[in-house]
Amino acid sequence: SSAASDVYKRQSSQKSKAENFITKFAKYYTPIVVCIALALAIIPSIITKEWSVWIYRALSFLVVSCPCALVISIPLSFFAGIGASSRYGILIKGSNYLEKLNKANIFVFDKTGTLTKGNFVVTKITPIERKEEIISLAAIAEQNSNHPIAKSIVRNAKNVETKKVENYEEITGKGIKYNIDEKTVLVGNSSLVGKEDEIAESTKIYLKIDEELVGAILLKDEAKHGTKEAIQALNSRGIVTKMFTGDNKKAAKQIAEELGISEFEAEMLPDQKYSELEKELEKYKGTNGKVAFVGDGINDAPVLALSDIGIAMGGLGSDAAIEAADIVIMTDEPSKVNKAIKISKKTMRIVKQNIIFAISIKALVLILSAVGITTMWEAVFADVGVSVIAVLNAFRILK
Ligand code: ADP
Ligand code: MG
Repeated sequence: SSAASDVYKRQSSQKSKAENFITKFAKYYTPIVVCIALALAIIPSIITKEWSVWIYRALSFLVVSCPCALVISIPLSFFAGIGASSRYGILIKGSNYLEKLNKANIFVFDKTGTLTKGNFVVTKITPIERKEEIISLAAIAEQNSNHPIAKSIVRNAKNVETKKVENYEEITGKGIKYNIDEKTVLVGNSSLVGKEDEIAESTKIYLKIDEELVGAILLKDEAKHGTKEAIQALNSRGIVTKMFTGDNKKAAKQIAEELGISEFEAEMLPDQKYSELEKELEKYKGTNGKVAFVGDGINDAPVLALSDIGIAMGGLGSDAAIEAADIVIMTDEPSKVNKAIKISKKTMRIVKQNIIFAISIKALVLILSAVGITTMWEAVFADVGVSVIAVLNAFRILK
């Protein structure tokens, strides 16, 4: 039962503020309304001696006061929002995330695999004379890695030997290290091989054998389809867009400029992504603003978990990332972020409409029934009618 209560706590913590408000509201509202109805039945009857008139009024008051239009339609609106999103391949893990999307002030994107395809093409290998040797030596070990760069190197290598690699080790955000034929090999970025202050032309992976820098593989990635438009759409909503990447400055700048992302940070290690996101969260602390992080999940599960709204690419993403994320985009398209925001805005608009509509109609009919203008049938009609209209309104989200 403790496990069950944990599940309950988890589920209720993933409810939207509007839903939690309704739950709390119903908790106080119901006893108050029952007391008012009792008072309405008894006090005027003692004075006027017209018991049947006042009991009838109290009963119709009770009928109209039923908050079921709100209690049904608000969770239903969020269900509809979550359902509408899933049609586009956007999985939202709780109604609170749908609500938070509406308040996102900044979207931070990972680069490789998130904004770009992660499908690198080898553009150059230096020195050209040792081209085959360099790529096949890298590919032998990269077969063990899940990183998009590793997969691309393997794909681009013509014949990958199946020589035994020893002491294979993946250095997060940097590259790989292994032993082969008694030699220690490093395959990764400049910081892995200890080469500083060099302006790489694009994504550049160095090969170092026993302290000797043997060569480098230059790779190029391209932005996913519709990403530029997606960034523009976010910017035009007044949402700040930012890119975090472990790749070098040159490759980062090129993609950022192409996509219209104003701010970016390059050569970041996974823990730097974490601390930079903490800074972003700090900026919006105490405000209504929310920080969203979108990642493909290679190394960024902790950042996904830290952000207010963690969005993972479901196709490319690792299991850990999908688990840590609040929203999963099954189609891997960053443009789906805008679709989700649109659905979120529509849901919140309809939730507000339903709250205002239900409360104002109820308040009016409550007053009318307390003074005896409405009949029981009108009270029943007001209650059921408001509920039906609110439910139908919630269904509009699915369109
Ligand atoms: P991003 O932030 O762009 O998703 P990562 O943090 O995953 O990048 O990796 C940062 C950098 O580390 C890569 O650009 C690459 O230079 C290097 N790197 C990481 N993993 C590998 C690997 N398996 N092989 C070669 N280089 C790697
Ligand atoms: Mg990545």
